[in-house]
Amino acid sequence: GNVPLTTPRPRVNGQRASLETFEGRLESFRGRQHPIDPERLARAGFYSSGEQDRVLCFKCGGGLKGWRPDEDPWEQHARHYPGCSFLLAEKGGEYVNSMQLRYPKGDH
Ligand SMILES: [Zn+2]
Repeated sequence: GNVPLTTPRPRVNGQRASLETFEGRLESFRGRQHPIDPERLARAGFYSSGEQDRVLCFKCGGGLKGWRPDEDPWEQHARHYPGCSFLLAEKGGEYVNSMQLRYPKGDH
């Protein structure tokens, strides 16, 4: 017998997509109303917490709610959770700094 006995690992195609992926986060908004385009939220690392318009970042765990339609998910992420490693990796420290300047602490 010259047949190798290594069986291919069964592919784990989980029903629930991982929140670390854009698709998984987008999925969390399915069937929900949100003032912000879920695609933009998902891109900025957010997924729906399941309550009202509250979203959470998959990386830093930062939560945001009370969204207005004119708000930008990345901006709000940088404003409230400037230390998030996902944010820093995606947008860079300069962007985060500029948002911190734009929204000085203590104005909310
Ligand atoms: Zn974050």
